[in-house]
Amino acid sequence: MTLIQDEKELNDLHWMVQMLQTVDVGLIVLDQEGRILLWNSFMENHSGIRSKQALNQTLKTLFPKLPHAWLQRKLDAVFKLGSPAYSTWEQRPRLFDFKSYRPLTGGSELMYQNLTLMPLQGRNNKTSQVCLLVYDVTENAISKLQLETANAELARLSRTDRLTELFNRGYWEECLNQEFLRAQRSGGESSLIIFDIDHFKKVNDTHGHQAGDEVIREVAKILRSTARETDFPGRYGGEEFVLLLPDTPASGALEVAERARKKLEATRIHYEDLVLQVTISLGISSFSPDLVSAQQWLERADQALYQAKNAGRNQTCLWQG
Ligand code: GH3
Ligand code: MG
Ligand code: MG
Repeated sequence: MTLIQDEKELNDLHWMVQMLQTVDVGLIVLDQEGRILLWNSFMENHSGIRSKQALNQTLKTLFPKLPHAWLQRKLDAVFKLGSPAYSTWEQRPRLFDFKSYRPLTGGSELMYQNLTLMPLQGRNNKTSQVCLLVYDVTENAISKLQLETANAELARLSRTDRLTELFNRGYWEECLNQEFLRAQRSGGESSLIIFDIDHFKKVNDTHGHQAGDEVIREVAKILRSTARETDFPGRYGGEEFVLLLPDTPASGALEVAERARKKLEATRIHYEDLVLQVTISLGISSFSPDLVSAQQWLERADQALYQAKNAGRNQTCLWQG
């Protein structure tokens, strides 16, 4: 090698080190004993540890709280196989607990990081060092998380009734269809309750629509408090409610229905300076193998409800074929 070539190589190295120092990615080079051979300015700025302090130390001594066992497994694999390894923020949000200052919100939060572990081969083609690259992906991660939160909220809103926060009719009908298919397959005992507020027009006509809405909200509350976690309470129409009870025979559904009816009967609903009292009529239909559709199941419950209305209201009727 000539002197000129030597100087050229040295110059190239000089440029390279300068570039590595200024790049907006964390760069750490580790040897097989885990000693730090390179610690660039990204790492200095975010950790507060100068390159001089970091060199020849191990990550374990500088950052005792890192997931060292996890990191060692990755490093071992890279040394052994000579191929790169990756970890995304979705798998592990970060390796280093660095703060990230986001220009958009001005807020500070912990940085989300993607990691790459690159094998560095010497002249003998053996991996003698590993370069750990730390990418700051906070902006992307936060946007993705915000999008996921917004989508989940949108999905929740699309199945929720605004006034009562119960399931709306569309979503509840989907649940009914699912339960119908499930019961058909497994022959389970599931029941369906539908109920309607008695003489509700009178509430609206006498006290106004707002008072009517308050009554609907109270009835929904009672329905929710009567239902179990595994049940599906819904608002079927204006003042019509439904409760789907998986794995519940008619006798169980009757108990639930009567509990809700009595609870409402004993409830005084306060609206402004009014004290209102309403009752409900309920119809029950349990799943039966002769049903041809979920719609027919619902119709049977509805027939039982009208039986309850005709028999004088404020009572529960069971569909009997
Ligand atoms: P019945 O005992 O036979 O059920 O008598 P009813 O007066 O309750 O009769 P019906 O069930 O037909 O009346 C429904 C009324 O509910 C008519 C409608 O104005 C009112 N309504 C429907 N949706 C709402 C709502 O969201 N808010 C209010 N305030 N009223 C509603
Ligand atoms: Mg009605
Ligand atoms: Mg009614």
